[in-house]
Amino acid sequence: MTVTAIVGANWGDEGKGKMTDVLAAKSSFVVRFQGGSNAGHTIINDYGKFALSMLPSGVFYPEVTNVIGPGTALDGDSLLSEREQLLARGVPKPNLKVSNRAQVVLPVHRLLDALEEDRLGKRSYGSTKRGIAPFYADKYAKLGVQVADLYNRNQLLERVGQLLEVKNVLLTHLYGHQPLEANPIVEELLGLGERLLPYVYDTTAMLQQAYKEQRPILLEGQLGALRDPDHGIYPYSTSSSTLAGHAPVGAGLPAYAVTDIMAVVKAYSSCVGAGPFVSEIAGAEAEQLRIRGGDAGEFGVVTGRPRRVGWFDAVATRYGCMVQGATEVALTNLDVLGYLDSIPVCVGYQLEDGTVTEQFPVNAKLNGAKPILRQLPGWKCDITGAKSFEELPAAAQQYVSFMEGEIGVKISYLSVGPKREQLMKLG
Ligand code: GDP
Repeated sequence: MTVTAIVGANWGDEGKGKMTDVLAAKSSFVVRFQGGSNAGHTIINDYGKFALSMLPSGVFYPEVTNVIGPGTALDGDSLLSEREQLLARGVPKPNLKVSNRAQVVLPVHRLLDALEEDRLGKRSYGSTKRGIAPFYADKYAKLGVQVADLYNRNQLLERVGQLLEVKNVLLTHLYGHQPLEANPIVEELLGLGERLLPYVYDTTAMLQQAYKEQRPILLEGQLGALRDPDHGIYPYSTSSSTLAGHAPVGAGLPAYAVTDIMAVVKAYSSCVGAGPFVSEIAGAEAEQLRIRGGDAGEFGVVTGRPRRVGWFDAVATRYGCMVQGATEVALTNLDVLGYLDSIPVCVGYQLEDGTVTEQFPVNAKLNGAKPILRQLPGWKCDITGAKSFEELPAAAQQYVSFMEGEIGVKISYLSVGPKREQLMKLG
């Protein structure tokens, strides 16, 4: 029996969706425990290619229960429209449960997110404008709306009214926007509540019971360790914890329930959005890596923004795996590097004051940090058909062993392409 957290060791986009889609085959539950529709998981399987932003990645197996946990930022419209899109493309009806304790992203959150990005202009943190930061700010300011609130008009009116008392001051005085009225928002939310009703459930009780019955549960993280608000590159972070330590809290399980922490690591680096990124490359070199990673969707799933790319960063990844508490690593996208004669990897940082370090520094010291690069031999061939580690060219094997040594955590899975079957379990 296992409860496994599948989480990102980097900036996100490591391939967590693919790993969850594959491992969900042997699971009873797949649970989203944080974040909302602000990051996408790309999944390629027998039904086609999908970009999920709100649905858990276990939705392709009708026997798996997919849970939107209490810690998530529920974008109800995204959830329902993604579900419709799946059905329209021949995916069997997913078994979906939404926690009655999850909170709902409100239209005012999306509005405030967009207005704040405009206000910040060049100083913006690269928000996806899905309302996530205002949502979590309001949740912790006790101004949020829980799913269970959607079924009581008077209570909802009171909650929304209380929220708008504060938000309308901001809207009118800071952003020069007209104030919002509670009634139309309440009507919209009551409608959403009706559409969500078939899925609303006490998922905490359900998962606690499933845990007691020793049923296999996957907790699916969004984004990566470096976007965590406490341990990541704050303020270029997201607004909920991306760490496995938070997974049982956001899912509604005991803290000691998580037995396996699979950190997903990319064979090179990529990042959507702003913030320090020491091993980043630019110009033609970056363009080539971005194009080679084309199948790896080097354009943000939610935003369509070109992803920033760079070489594998041992400093950031080791740190990412450490704060995740990784018990194993799934290494993805190794195939993408097959075009290079020799492959640079970042093994240390030189900070602005000249200090050289292999420890990931605080954000205040990251600005101006330069990568210390080392070259590893490339393998210059297509490895997307490889079925075992032994089949890989020696240089690819050496690259994987090097990464494992740098990260200090066992690599248990190796992915050599975006499809389900392009994955090998390592001894
Ligand atoms: P997630 O948010 O961590 O699930 O990652 P994304 O879906 O945003 O980005 C990962 C991208 O890499 C997707 O386009 C996947 O289809 C793709 N992908 C996953 N594993 C591999 C792999 O081993 N090789 C290649 N070429 N692409 C992969």
